[in-house]
Amino acid sequence: MSAGRSPSAGSGRGLADTFRRLIAITGPIGVAHYMAEANARYYAQADPFGAGGDFITAPEVSQMFGELIGLWLADMWQRAGRSGRPYYVELGPGRGTLARDALRAMKQAGLEPQVHFVETSEALRERQLAAVPQAQFHSDLSNIPFEGPILLVANEFLDALPVRQLLRTGEGWREVMVATDGERFVGVPGAQPMDAALPEDRRNLPEGTLIETSPAAAAIVHEVAARLVEQGGAALFIDYGHAAPRTGSTFQAVRRHEKVDPFEAPGEADLTAHVDFATLAQVAQAQGCRWLGTVAQGTWLRALGIEQRAAALGASASQHRDALASAMHRLTDAEEMGELFKVMGLAAPAWPDGAGFHPV
Ligand code: SAH
Repeated sequence: MSAGRSPSAGSGRGLADTFRRLIAITGPIGVAHYMAEANARYYAQADPFGAGGDFITAPEVSQMFGELIGLWLADMWQRAGRSGRPYYVELGPGRGTLARDALRAMKQAGLEPQVHFVETSEALRERQLAAVPQAQFHSDLSNIPFEGPILLVANEFLDALPVRQLLRTGEGWREVMVATDGERFVGVPGAQPMDAALPEDRRNLPEGTLIETSPAAAAIVHEVAARLVEQGGAALFIDYGHAAPRTGSTFQAVRRHEKVDPFEAPGEADLTAHVDFATLAQVAQAQGCRWLGTVAQGTWLRALGIEQRAAALGASASQHRDALASAMHRLTDAEEMGELFKVMGLAAPAWPDGAGFHPV
């Protein structure tokens, strides 16, 4: 990094150069490869959250988000018979805000779980430790203890995991690869036939159809589901995505609150793809795990009482009433985060239904 350049600009350019050299040697690389390396670089160096960063996540909008998640988990644990000493596990905890708010709400409900964070970014681990000093860190799920029930949360985690894109061309299915065109990166169909990678019922989709899959997201949900079945517990996956299967590219980049071209500056923007909740629910159920439902975030938060929570907080601090109303609107309104974001609930076979997933 040279003086006068921001760390993000310096190392981002470095990654673009690395990709260019790699592509010159090996030929085009898969979108999943590109996305995985770009996001690893992005999260390693940055604190992207909040008004001054690249994007704002729900826990950074309001404490009510983490509190309601904490109460949901405590409610599940209580109705499951307060079994064992549970573990609070969070995947990709960002600044640690959600965990801090959820743990405070759980404590008020009589639950003080051990805390385990799955986080690969050293820079963000430091932020998370400042917010939740008792947290223990892991790079993946494999070393989370095996003996007690797991209460797991992942907010805007799965959308950061790499996706593979398959395109139906005139010659059959091909993987979308990242190639160079001068200095630019562009998506091109790969040379290898990929028909065998598609389920039979999807192979006949028309030419031009693009299908995105995330083997990494499926692997995470598979592992979480297996743990819930084995140890007991419940999990919430919250992300923007679709509850029914769909086609088309959702690969995108966000930088300073604006959508930008995902091929423009690898390592400097947050790369995401919509989460395919339909497939993930099937993956979990194939493990024998209970799928509690996948509902819109606004519906779920309202069912959990966000309106009453905002009113209670506003009553004790009237100067914050407007800010609370606008935060609630942001989290629940269909035009904001309420509809595009979905909440998927999973639980161990013997655990109860989850609040907010069924009409009352
Ligand atoms: N949950 C937070 C942050 C979402 S951003 C919030 O809602 O504010 C994605 C988070 O996942 C970051 O903490 C990032 O460092 C982490 N992350 C991304 N890819 C990861 C991976 N493969 N393994 C572990 N953590 C990852």
